[in-house]
Amino acid sequence: MSYGDDENGGFAVAGSFPKGFGYGPDDTETEQPADSPEDKPRILLMGLRRSGKSSIQKVVFHKVSPNETLFLESTNKIVKDDISNSSFVQFQVWDIPGQIDFFDPTFDSDMIFGGCGALIFVIDAQDDYIEALARLQMAVTRAYKINPNIKFEVFIHKVDGLSDDNKIETQRDIHQRSTDDLAEAGMETVHLSFHLTSIYDHSIFEAFSKVVQKLIPQLPTLENLLNILISNSGIEKAFLFDVMSKIYIATDSSPVDMQCYELCCDMIDVVMDMSSIYGARDDGAFDGNSSSIIKLNTNNVLYMREVNRHLALVCILREDSFDRQGLIDYNFMCFKKAIQQVFDVRKQVASTNNSDGRAAMATSHNLLHHNGSVEGAA
Ligand code: GDP
Repeated sequence: MSYGDDENGGFAVAGSFPKGFGYGPDDTETEQPADSPEDKPRILLMGLRRSGKSSIQKVVFHKVSPNETLFLESTNKIVKDDISNSSFVQFQVWDIPGQIDFFDPTFDSDMIFGGCGALIFVIDAQDDYIEALARLQMAVTRAYKINPNIKFEVFIHKVDGLSDDNKIETQRDIHQRSTDDLAEAGMETVHLSFHLTSIYDHSIFEAFSKVVQKLIPQLPTLENLLNILISNSGIEKAFLFDVMSKIYIATDSSPVDMQCYELCCDMIDVVMDMSSIYGARDDGAFDGNSSSIIKLNTNNVLYMREVNRHLALVCILREDSFDRQGLIDYNFMCFKKAIQQVFDVRKQVASTNNSDGRAAMATSHNLLHHNGSVEGAA
């Protein structure tokens, strides 16, 4: 089914984002200097040597397979990785080796923590983590003093080597010790989030998704749009994916089932591999109206639609709901337009300091409501 591409060739998400959040320009746009890498929100990856920082970065953002990380050279200097060209979410990963001395005057913590959106501290759960916890406390204390808005995320990593009971016990123990340490330092107001992760399954992508979502100001609006879409289309679960990293930047508000997320990730891999081999474009990326359907033997259907150059909607629904594909496609077009409006609204109101995307929500309500009555009539 094809729709005229009435959205002037897909929309440039880019310029629509508020500057300073650093979502950024599609390559068709040249933005102001505010979009220079130094202005983008930064995600810091920290942790002791061999805790798995470089592996995480390679697996999530550079499509390296987990086994290939076995022979990575250990990180011993600050590595700045600008994830900006291929991915919708533009941020920097600063891989900071564990043994950095924060009090060393050559370590410019104001610069490093100052514009940082989230600090991810990686702890190797297969190793003794007492020293890592001391480092964590030091990093959090230092970073919080410089920038109290940082989100602190602890990745309890390499949990593939732990039994289920052991995972829970390790998480409980690390949580307890780190919050006790912070309370002792008089910093009980600082909130740490914990994630059990491994590069050998999808947990690392899930955890990264959660971290990135905290840095997306439009998240509630995107979630609402997804809720409206699924309830009007008979979809069970929908994810808005950053295609290159397989991070989902939003999903509807029903709980995320890991298996379902894994299926959607696998679908992206399959579609991307296919399009890089047979795709019309040289870079193998999505083109204007990419879509893909996979029917599973569980009577479910995976349906993927391109939203813009970087984002795709991947949803899972029952096969009988997919009989009304025309309705789903219509709703999807409304959804796509609404997303465009969310970003456009932010662009317009950024100048008047009054941005929350509500106008776009209202429009999308109208569109989908209208469509709901079409469904009733069909
Ligand atoms: P860095 O020094 O913190 O950058 O650590 P590396 O990324 O070099 O990783 C050190 C070792 O840990 C490598 O041999 C990786 O293969 C291994 N590693 C990383 N992540 C995982 C994981 O999730 N599970 C397991 N079992 N090993 C991992």
